[in-house]
Amino acid sequence: MRRFHLNRRHFAIGSLAAFAGGCGGRRAPDLILHGGPIYTGRPAAPQAEALRISGDRILFAGALAEARSGQRAREIDLGGAAAFPGLIDGHVHLGGVGMAAMVLDLVGVESIAALQARLRAYAGANREGPIYGRGWIETHWPERRFPLASDLDAIVGDRPVLLERIDGHAAVANTRALQLAEITANTPDPAGGRIERGVDGGATGMLIDHAANLVHARFPAPTTAMRREALRAAVRLYAERGWTGAGNMSTNLEEAQILEEIAAAGELPLHTDLYLTPEDSEAVYERGPYADASGRVRVRGVKLYMDGALGSRGAALLAPYSDAPGAGLLVTPPEQVRDYLIRARARGVQIAMHAIGDRGNRLALDAYQDVFADDPAALAAARWRIEHAQVIAPEDIPRFAALGVIASMQPSHAISDLHFAPARLGPERLAGAYAWASLTQSGAVLAAGSDAPVEKGRSADRILRRRVPTRSLGLCRPRLAG
Ligand SMILES: [Zn+2]
Repeated sequence: MRRFHLNRRHFAIGSLAAFAGGCGGRRAPDLILHGGPIYTGRPAAPQAEALRISGDRILFAGALAEARSGQRAREIDLGGAAAFPGLIDGHVHLGGVGMAAMVLDLVGVESIAALQARLRAYAGANREGPIYGRGWIETHWPERRFPLASDLDAIVGDRPVLLERIDGHAAVANTRALQLAEITANTPDPAGGRIERGVDGGATGMLIDHAANLVHARFPAPTTAMRREALRAAVRLYAERGWTGAGNMSTNLEEAQILEEIAAAGELPLHTDLYLTPEDSEAVYERGPYADASGRVRVRGVKLYMDGALGSRGAALLAPYSDAPGAGLLVTPPEQVRDYLIRARARGVQIAMHAIGDRGNRLALDAYQDVFADDPAALAAARWRIEHAQVIAPEDIPRFAALGVIASMQPSHAISDLHFAPARLGPERLAGAYAWASLTQSGAVLAAGSDAPVEKGRSADRILRRRVPTRSLGLCRPRLAG
């Protein structure tokens, strides 16, 4: 069981309640917290002087004298630190978070020489296989140029190296990696990508957009052992930052199995709610939602995709994009969506549907409403979600509250979309985009998430590099209400 550090200036009550419960059959005495602001998340009484916890239940929140009445209890004086309900990341990819922590981290390197130094250290510590790294950005480097294959060859020449720029839109490969991908002076640029070439016509090592995939596709896929290590690292990382729960999106059955193994070993420090990929969803359609013996791995539902993403103009819009022809695309055919939804309703399976464009969101709301047309109240009880809910036609905003559909949103997307959303959407459509306040005021239930590590511009790097305290990354209920 994890330890709690008072000097962190904050406590996650969800973890603490589990902590107070102790392990095994012996019942621990009640626990009282006091001595710092205790945030309850209840609008009627947002702060309490003291909290009494019995087993895994919060018994009382209020005056210290009253908390102390009754049987003797252990006490923790917060010493001015704040306590608040445990943070839950509503939308994360834990396997990806762990994987990102396992690769060579190049965030913050300030020169080509510094990049080479990190590569040298990583290669020394990881002596086998291709090397994949990410996170560099050259704009402030004294060398005033992109890194080249020869820069990497000088450090690692005998195995492939691919180092991705922080935005994921470019990468540098060493000569061994270019050979692995069979990239020569004669290789044409792939669709959606560019192979940078020197004066002699040969590849410099810089691969733009899809050109990097030529190399990446030749790198070995992660093994089960690596996935296990990644998930272990991710749940430890999350617990260290004070998270008490995570909604894990697009989980495959192997990941679910690994999480169950971690939980069975008593090493899963947070609750995980799993939403399976469509490909692996048969298990939950057949069994209905299920949990493991520890209760910490709960297979709740299925993650579906209505449309694509805004940056690549795949999000389905009601009217064409403002900066290009076309209005996006539907990823799953509507009749297939309907089939999934009907089966989900029959088995009490929770749906989490990716929808980014205003057409994608409308179609998702329409489909949910249609499947529950005979019993609209049952839709709210099913707690179906729309993931991202990013661009919504203003007339559709009140439908979330009216239908009881949860808007699962990730604040980090507004930051990373800042530079292209106005061009893609135009000023009028922006009114219904990233509309947390409008949705909250309409009475909709919001779930906040990080989308780590997909959202890699800022949030994932921050999670991985421990720059900011957890509380800046997650939005708990009091902040949403306020
Ligand atoms: Zn995601």
